[in-house]
Amino acid sequence: MYASCADQAHAALARVGSTSLEDLLLRKGLSVVPADAAASFGGTIVRARLELDRRARGGRIHLYMRSLRELEDAFGFFALVGPREGFVPAIVAHETFHALSPGCPPHLAEVAANLFATWLVDLPFYAGSADVVHVLYRQLTKLP
Ligand SMILES: [Zn+2]
Repeated sequence: MYASCADQAHAALARVGSTSLEDLLLRKGLSVVPADAAASFGGTIVRARLELDRRARGGRIHLYMRSLRELEDAFGFFALVGPREGFVPAIVAHETFHALSPGCPPHLAEVAANLFATWLVDLPFYAGSADVVHVLYRQLTKLP
């Protein structure tokens, strides 16, 4: 099952002929839309949401800027160094994976998307580890 997720993403990269995030967004018709939404919904931290428009063969990646600022605060709280370019490219890459591999089973999709984001934007750490930092920060600072 995991292979099918990776195969879909790999095939999409081959079709685009590039591993540039900008090229992927352009070729897949994805736009990035900043939104000032809550950092968490029902206790689940949400940093972005992918909205695919199958008819138009494109979509939008909504970035929840409050969550992103909170993630940066979390890294600062633990004196951790985040990505040099900030978290936006990694989060956009994560959502782009979901657009490239829409058939990836939900239980694998998040890990696969984090592995893809880590590789695509050359993060110095596994993208999913930011979730652990963020959750600990929320618990220690008693954020709702
Ligand atoms: Zn995801």
